[in-house]
Amino acid sequence: MSVHADPPPSLVPEPNGVQYATGGQLGKGGFAICHRAERLDVDRPTGHVVALKIVRTKMEPAKLAQKFITELQIHSKLHHSNIVEFFRAFSFESSTYVVLELCDNGSLADMLKKRKYLTMPEIRRFVIQICGAVKYLHYRNIVHRDLKTGNLFLDKDMNIKVGDFGLAALLVSQSDMMGKRRTTMCGTPNYLAPEILEKGKGHNEKVDFYTLAVGKAPFHASSKEEIYKKLKSRYYTWPELNSTTNNISSDLRDLVSSLLVHEEERPSPDQIVSHPFFKIAFVPTQLSAARVTRPPKWP
Ligand code: ADP
Repeated sequence: MSVHADPPPSLVPEPNGVQYATGGQLGKGGFAICHRAERLDVDRPTGHVVALKIVRTKMEPAKLAQKFITELQIHSKLHHSNIVEFFRAFSFESSTYVVLELCDNGSLADMLKKRKYLTMPEIRRFVIQICGAVKYLHYRNIVHRDLKTGNLFLDKDMNIKVGDFGLAALLVSQSDMMGKRRTTMCGTPNYLAPEILEKGKGHNEKVDFYTLAVGKAPFHASSKEEIYKKLKSRYYTWPELNSTTNNISSDLRDLVSSLLVHEEERPSPDQIVSHPFFKIAFVPTQLSAARVTRPPKWP
């Protein structure tokens, strides 16, 4: 399904009188197109710039319902410094608008595309922040189920903001509560955990940690079937060190291999951030937006 790319109206009104003056396009997903927008109160600029996600209601009702029920019901209740803040949702003409916290520096996937790989201190900072968000979600019995670099956004201060809760699930049914399990197959093939592929088995919240590793999926292949085969056998290799690959520390290799195991042995967010990878070296407390395109001076 492709998203309509017509420019949005220059002024989008909320039913209560607040309006949004739309600006440049931030990005396009499978379901929505996202524009920068400034909130206006009684026609006056407020300086409050947001991300306005526009979803055409022409989309198949079943798909729209599934995506929106989760986005609206789950995302709107989440408040954490490393989760994209959901402000409100409303309809105008034939579209639904979702007002979100603006993430000025794009996604971690965009950053990786420009940079190829990140340095160890940058990985430490991002993983610690991702673990904070994941711990918050799992404490509330929420699994994101599509935690990949394209859904990890960066705000103006280069803080991670977990976004796109369209596939998230709240583990609430009785059987879910007992075993905290879901059996639906979802997420992006590269990031599925092996237990999801094993017949008759559901997955629990630990499934998310598969994606925290090195910025790209460890199980690469040209077809879905090949990816699933590698994933089931847990077959992955580290890139050879040369001028275009990262110098991956032995601590990081150890951490990643501890994540790429079956769910029972996979560490929790607290256990991840207690790993030696985070203990003996530098974690940057500040990161410049220039790092989106250029590597820092540190190793
Ligand atoms: P979909 O629900 O269709 O997958 P996404 O949530 O991925 O849509 O949004 C589509 C694109 O819009 C993203 O890839 C990203 O480039 C941009 N985007 C989404 N949310 C934000 C945000 N909060 N801040 C900045 N850009 C965003």
